[in-house]
Amino acid sequence: MARSLHLGHLYDATLDDPAEHVTVTIDGDRFGAVTTRSDDRLGDEDLDLSPYFGLPGLIDAHTHLGQALPVAAIRDEGLLSIASVAAGIFQNCELALDAGVTTARDLAGLDGGIVQAIDSGVVRGPRIYPSGPALAQTGGHGSGHTPYRMTDAALCIPGLFQRALVCDGPDGVRLAARTALRRGATQLKVYGSGGVVSFADGPRDVHFTIEELKAAVEEAAARHTYVTSHAHNSEAIRRGIAAGVTCFEHGTYLDEPTAELMANAGASLVPTFMVLEVMRRRSESWGIGPGLLERMAGVGEAMQKALSLARDAGVRIGSGSDLLGPQQIGRAFEIELKTRIIGFRDALRAATIGNAEIMGLAADLGTVESGKLADLIVVDGNPFEDPAVLTDPDKIKVVIKSGVVVKDIRS
Ligand SMILES: [Zn+2]
Repeated sequence: MARSLHLGHLYDATLDDPAEHVTVTIDGDRFGAVTTRSDDRLGDEDLDLSPYFGLPGLIDAHTHLGQALPVAAIRDEGLLSIASVAAGIFQNCELALDAGVTTARDLAGLDGGIVQAIDSGVVRGPRIYPSGPALAQTGGHGSGHTPYRMTDAALCIPGLFQRALVCDGPDGVRLAARTALRRGATQLKVYGSGGVVSFADGPRDVHFTIEELKAAVEEAAARHTYVTSHAHNSEAIRRGIAAGVTCFEHGTYLDEPTAELMANAGASLVPTFMVLEVMRRRSESWGIGPGLLERMAGVGEAMQKALSLARDAGVRIGSGSDLLGPQQIGRAFEIELKTRIIGFRDALRAATIGNAEIMGLAADLGTVESGKLADLIVVDGNPFEDPAVLTDPDKIKVVIKSGVVVKDIRS
């Protein structure tokens, strides 16, 4: 039976402005009519949310819900039980849902096992699109290789978590891609450049040849999906575009000609600001040394420029928190940081309909419109006036996922 929600305000993430006094009906797992109402009569099944502000369920297109260990502990992961690892992952999933994230694209680690666990209803969490183990080249970012030790086998728990598969050469990449897909990957993630938190490379380094990237793209296409590439620099993006990669993460050192190339190719950019801030704040407790902090300096500023360039070139922009570690909270801080560059409406659209388009899910997700899956969050406060309300889980009063109320802390 359909039920109605009476909201004080709703921003549906279409190009319109927020509307006042809106009634949203939910029929099964989908939105029915969305109308401006003239009276306030409530049926038994209806929810009076008139003091609050409604938004589409948030989508985080770059999560690491499975990387539930502090960065410094990754090297000690052999000391942890599978139970502890699973507990940390489930806690992160629950925190994401309570933060209003109804859909997450997990980029390195989680596989189809976690999707099964959440869909069974035993564990609370977002609707997850996992990448399974990400594809990393020998010695490259994400491989876990330090200069003098190869740790390929680091934390491989089929059905739960494996951070990366190390692969080289087109055939090696093909095998790794097929393995990730076997483990339930709904898209492939490759590490196309070096990284900030890396042991044997830097963010200006380029990983994988075009031929290697092509092998991943072919395997993804054969399974009707796509490849997204961790790419901090323009050369990594250019190689990706030449190979048919359609989505790029971070984009820190993006230049103007490459932004234009991305726009012409219809490629998307998922900038990730907040993780740098979180790591800086937690540097002491996570054991992040001065060398790494120095490397992080300047990355945020470069990424701000990259976002402006990409937006001006007409590149589709998504949103990802890239949060790492245990007890991942304050996920919407990413939206707050982007608001400072592109304004709240575009920052929110990046984290809803922008991400839905990138993931090929715009027919079902990303806006509050009749016929789409009923994912909605109900906020105490006006996020257009103060985006910070979204970072406080106590202000996210109600979360609805596929028409089901999965959080309600109004009383
Ligand atoms: Zn990441």
